[in-house]
Amino acid sequence: LRSSHSFIQKEDGSINGLIAVLHDITEQEQIEQERREFVVNVSHELRTPLTTLKSYIEALQEGAWEDKEIAPRFLKVVGDETDRMIRLVNDLLQLSKMDKKEYNFNLEEFDFIDYFHSVIDRFEMSKPEGIRFVRHLQNASAYVNIDKDKITQVIDNIISNAMKYSPEGGTITCRCWIQSKKLRVSISDEGVGIPKANISRIFERFYRVDRARTRQLGGTGLGLAIAKDMIHAHGGDIWAESEWGKGTTIYFTLPFRNASEADYR
Ligand code: ADP
Repeated sequence: LRSSHSFIQKEDGSINGLIAVLHDITEQEQIEQERREFVVNVSHELRTPLTTLKSYIEALQEGAWEDKEIAPRFLKVVGDETDRMIRLVNDLLQLSKMDKKEYNFNLEEFDFIDYFHSVIDRFEMSKPEGIRFVRHLQNASAYVNIDKDKITQVIDNIISNAMKYSPEGGTITCRCWIQSKKLRVSISDEGVGIPKANISRIFERFYRVDRARTRQLGGTGLGLAIAKDMIHAHGGDIWAESEWGKGTTIYFTLPFRNASEADYR
C-alpha cells in the first residue's frame, strides 16, 4: 500500500482535518518492482566475481605469472570464480525457465525409497570429511510419479547445503515417510543453523543469512529458490526448521496417491 495525504486548513491557517488516500499498488507495479530488484541483484552477483577475476588477472599480467608459487594459486582463484559464474548463470537460466513455465516434466514412476538410498550413496561415496549420514527411510517401497532429474537437483541442493553449513562436520539425517497421503522427506544437519527471523526468507532468490560466509563457500543464493519452484511445480511444499547454532532441517512433500497410509504402518 502507498498513501498520500493532504491537510484541510481553515482560513486562519489552523488545521482541522486530514484526508488520507491509500493506493493499492497494482500487481503489475509489484511485478515490475521485483523485476528491477532482481536485475540489480544479478548485476551485483556477477560484478563480485568479475572484479575478483580482473584483479587477479592484472596481478598475473604485472609479473605474478613468473612466480612458480603464486601463479598456480592465482589461477586457481580465477578458475573457481569462473566456475561460480557458470553456476550462477545456469541457475538463472533454470529459474527463468521455471518462471516462463517452459520446463517439460519428464514424469517417471519409480520407488522413491530405492532412489533416495542411491542419492545418499552418491554423497557418501564422495567421503565428506567429518560428515556421517544416517538414514531413516521407511522399509516399504513408495511409488511416486515425478521428474527424477528435477527432484535430484532439489535433494542435491539441500544435502550440499547441509554439508556446506556444517563446518564442524556432524550427522546428516535423511528421513522419508508417508503421512496424510503425502510422501514426506526431511534432511537434518547439525551445522550453523539459521536465526529464527531469517528462516522464512531462505527460499527467496539471492537471500543469504551471512553474505560473506556463503560467498566463500561458493554458493549462488539460488539453490533453495530453485528447490522451492521445483517442489511447487510438483504440487508439493517445502519449508525449514532451524535453531541458530544447533542445526537445520529442510522438509518437503510430494503428492503420493498410489497406496493408503495404512499399508505402510
Ligand atoms: P547458497 O548458494 O547461498 O547456499 P541457497 O539458496 O541454497 O543459497 O540457501 C540460501 C541461504 O540459506 C544460504 O545462504 C544460507 O544462509 C541458508 N541456508 C541454507 N541451508 C542451510 C543449512 N543447512 N544450514 C544453515 N543455513 C542454511
